[in-house]
Amino acid sequence: MMPVIAVVGRPNVGKSTLFNALTNTRNALVADLPGLTRDRQYGEFELPDFQATLIDTGGMLGDEGQLTDLMDKQIITAIEEADLVLLVVSSRDGLVGDDERILRRIRQTEKPIMLLANKSEGRVEELALAEFYQLGIENMMSVSSAHRKGLTELKERLNDFF
Ligand code: GDP
Ligand code: MG
Repeated sequence: MMPVIAVVGRPNVGKSTLFNALTNTRNALVADLPGLTRDRQYGEFELPDFQATLIDTGGMLGDEGQLTDLMDKQIITAIEEADLVLLVVSSRDGLVGDDERILRRIRQTEKPIMLLANKSEGRVEELALAEFYQLGIENMMSVSSAHRKGLTELKERLNDFF
């Protein structure tokens, strides 16, 4: 079994940082510039019982808050390829409208969703997740990709999901 997991979310929430931390590659572009990674990136990583494929996507929204045709196509393709969609949000920013817009798009596909509240270093999980409970996503957890916090637990959760 080699499940495919797509990492989606608005620009700058830390998708590429997560991708790099899980796959141990520097393939994905990490930058302070929102929306820099426009291409999908594929990587493999080890879960406790099997390997999984991870897809990093560029932001759903362009720099002007607009969904470009190219980004839209790449992300929709990534979601369609995926067995599970990891919706990455920022627990620093809390819930913003673009998160909900992206969530609606994922839900149109009826793919299983797990919400990942990134940038949660220094926060207890309940508070990092507080604003996101209203989305009605059953499967949620907080991590800090930059500090590699919660990644072992994330791998266990992903492993158990499949
Ligand atoms: P992407 O646009 O969603 O791919 O976001 P990136 O991975 O490029 O990261 C955007 C910015 O957020 C970079 O400056 C990262 O260093 C930073 N970042 C990523 N993960 C974390 C985290 O867990 N905590 C904090 N504080 N910053 C993070
Ligand atoms: Mg990126």
